[in-house]
Amino acid sequence: MAAKKWVYRFEELNQAQQYVGGQWDGVRGLFGGKGANLAEMQRIGLPVPSGFTITTEACNAYLQAGGVFPEDMWAQVTEAMAAVQEATGKRFGDKNNPLLVSCRSGAKFSMPGMMDTVLNIGLNDTTCQGMIKLTGDQRFVYDAYRRLIQMFGSVVMGISDEAFERVIEKAKHKAGVMLDTDLAATDWKAVTEQFKTIFRSHTQVDFPQQPEEQLKMATEAVFKSWNGKRAIDYRNAAGIAHDLGTAVNIVTMVFGNMGSDSATGVAMTRNGSSGDPKIEGDYLINAQGEDVVAGIRLTQDINQMAAEIPKAYEELRQISATLEKHYREMQDIEFTIEKGKLWMLQTRDGKRTAQAAVRIAVDMAKEGLISRKEAVQRVSPDQVDFFLHPQFDPADIANARSQGRRVARGLNVSPGAAFGVVAFDADLAEAWAKNENKKVIMVRPETKPDDVHGMLAAQGILTSRGGRTSHAALVARQFGKPAVVGAAALQIEMNKREMTVGEDIIREGEWISIDGNTGEVFLGELKTMIPDIKDPWLIDLLAWADEFRTLGVWANADYPDDARRAREYGAQGIGLCRSEHMFFEADRLPLFQKMIMADLPVDQRAALDDLLPFQREDFAGLFRVMDGLPVIIRLIDPPLHEFLPDLVELVLELTDLKLRIRKAATLVEIDALLQQIREKEALRRRAAKLREQNPMLGLRGVRLGIHIPELTKMQVRAVFEAACLVTREGIKVFPKVMIPLTAHANELKLQRETLEKEARQVMAEQKIEIPYKFGTMIELPRAALTADQIAGHAEFFSYGTNDLTQTTYGISRDDAEAGFLIEYMERHILPDNPFATLDRDGVAQLMLMGLIKGRQVRPDLECGICGEHGGDPRSIAICHELGLNYVSCSPFRVPIARLAAAHAALKEETDG
Ligand code: ADP
Ligand code: MG
Ligand code: MG
Repeated sequence: MAAKKWVYRFEELNQAQQYVGGQWDGVRGLFGGKGANLAEMQRIGLPVPSGFTITTEACNAYLQAGGVFPEDMWAQVTEAMAAVQEATGKRFGDKNNPLLVSCRSGAKFSMPGMMDTVLNIGLNDTTCQGMIKLTGDQRFVYDAYRRLIQMFGSVVMGISDEAFERVIEKAKHKAGVMLDTDLAATDWKAVTEQFKTIFRSHTQVDFPQQPEEQLKMATEAVFKSWNGKRAIDYRNAAGIAHDLGTAVNIVTMVFGNMGSDSATGVAMTRNGSSGDPKIEGDYLINAQGEDVVAGIRLTQDINQMAAEIPKAYEELRQISATLEKHYREMQDIEFTIEKGKLWMLQTRDGKRTAQAAVRIAVDMAKEGLISRKEAVQRVSPDQVDFFLHPQFDPADIANARSQGRRVARGLNVSPGAAFGVVAFDADLAEAWAKNENKKVIMVRPETKPDDVHGMLAAQGILTSRGGRTSHAALVARQFGKPAVVGAAALQIEMNKREMTVGEDIIREGEWISIDGNTGEVFLGELKTMIPDIKDPWLIDLLAWADEFRTLGVWANADYPDDARRAREYGAQGIGLCRSEHMFFEADRLPLFQKMIMADLPVDQRAALDDLLPFQREDFAGLFRVMDGLPVIIRLIDPPLHEFLPDLVELVLELTDLKLRIRKAATLVEIDALLQQIREKEALRRRAAKLREQNPMLGLRGVRLGIHIPELTKMQVRAVFEAACLVTREGIKVFPKVMIPLTAHANELKLQRETLEKEARQVMAEQKIEIPYKFGTMIELPRAALTADQIAGHAEFFSYGTNDLTQTTYGISRDDAEAGFLIEYMERHILPDNPFATLDRDGVAQLMLMGLIKGRQVRPDLECGICGEHGGDPRSIAICHELGLNYVSCSPFRVPIARLAAAHAALKEETDG
């Protein structure tokens, strides 16, 4: 049997692909991302320096064996090295024409900064002389040699980099220069010698002179770094499996530091912030690899390359186009130019902002690189969310970064930008926000349930501890507050009411800005802007999404302004207008209270007659905006006590009035007070009578309509009078009357008969026929269980999943979300907050039963959802699977829902 293959030359990609069963993902697993892409670039004919990959399997075998290379691995490395020597015409350790290589880590998923690279392996006292003869450039060679000792020292032997940097600082001081590049050959030669001394004093051994030993030790160090603490922490935080291992890539060195026709750089094939289809990046003439990212020298904009090294620039442009065509994705590349010759050192999919993601996907579809379906699938609903929240102005971010105002970085757990003054506790945050109208960022080491009121009052939340499922993260996401958590660089000193970050001290009351998209924390106040929902690329993308989705997207809107926004964002109807919201307005509440207080039917009638014109205008306004689209109006839902003043407050006010009577001076005064007391007393009596132990399960919804039929009749009259009115104006109206909280078919039957009679009467009076429907909310388990009976009286169903979740779980949402539900999620007792994401196994099963039973009786039964879940991408996918006709969500979530619905449809298409 042939020995296991641990080492693959870049040319042997096909073999590796066969071994893993043909899948590219398998190659990435075996070679790591960097190695797989180097081999791939080589295969499609791009200039990649000769090299090979030691597989992740070798790494795992090495680690499992407790730090021993698997059998035959090193022999295979030696063999591969021989092939590289053949290809380059150089020899490892040769004193005349030495081969130098880099040893580069690379896991399946990029783990930034976790494992390091050693450059210039193969240099020693002898090959160094050969290189000098060969290049005639002593400065270059000693610079390269000292880099090897420095990197090898820090990466392989764990010597702190500062020890080396101090030597360079001293040398610069001595030579009287500012920049590394101004040091001369003799300076670097001296530095190299001092580095060897540092190496020896830290490790008790000499810097290894044997090139093969250098390579072996570097390889082992990369393998071991997989289990370094930083790497493990990173994998835990990012959810990357611990058994993937890292590959090692051995790549022939090419030199960007061989004079003015040499350079090194990094670039994106398109702009990662705006998506602009132009190469974006930085380069440095006469520099080696890590100088560009290390920020030692001021880099130049890649577009300057066109003037400075035009031939290489043109080649880079072509390669960038080739890569995009090949990978069908925007690429992030690293390259080096050695004496005019361009070499590719890395490529991977480029990171981008939400805005760029949208533009790139749409542009690529238009350029024919990808299909429209792929474009739609490449943008996540969260990225669309970006266009609807305030964001920091990118120019201001760049400013703040360059001014060193970015002081820390944590996890980006809840998107959006926020700035405000620092408050270190919840009470202060709330007091400042509420009483002084200040913008506040609440900063805590971590948050607890006691802190929720402060978090709600704050613009954003920042913590120094905690991860993606910490209390702060969960609460922030739930309430849509921008948040950064786990910013470990912050030292919060509660007793001093300040925090330190490096050298900066931030005191309570000082301004900071946090970016929930990137996890960055800045000193001071950054400019914000609302990204444009009219972004032309977003408009195209959403239009494509509309072609693919089968689920309708409607909106919940109570007022004409909401409806207008909903339409602008692409809603196809109003799925929920809460008719009672209008009763809370200042000019109507007294009338509504009068209705509640009336003891005699005539008085009640009179109050309702006064309310009728208001309601009619409310609905007419909505119908005008929604011209041609359906509007579902839900009849009054909440219990009546919500419309009366709070009972406790009434009692306090009464006590106060009675005290004032004692002090009153005149009879007139006393009379006035007595009158007030009588009124308040009546209110108090009524409020006390309406008081319920469990208002959520009390006299509300259809029960209220049955209890006071005059009220819902007035509402229906208003709906149909408004419909007739606007129909005369030439507007198309499709009103749908929705009866809430049905539990039993008889309730619906009774209300519907009463209300439909009223509707018919209005249409007869007005001599206009309006196309209308009557339907019900399905928001109680019993309604879902008896949906066949209910469908006999309803032409449509709308799932009220907020109540349906409450009643299925038997959980009172308001109490639970600020209390034990958070603990449940922290401890993973529940996978998600069921009020945020539809409970697939429970609530969704009831929905499915309702659908099946309802459609058995009435095949054309229209079914939608109007709970908040209608705007949550994962819940939208469930709604699609269930076969609902539409989701209805807040106007702001309509664009997100359009995309999520398309994703669900496309997923079904691919899953078959
Ligand atoms: P990272 O994963 O941290 O980006 P890399 O392995 O890409 O590490 O190496 C960092 C930099 O070192 C590269 O961007 C490149 O500029 C330089 N480098 C690596 N290998 C070579 C090589 N063979 N020749 C020249 N430069 C190299
Ligand atoms: Mg790199
Ligand atoms: Mg409800």
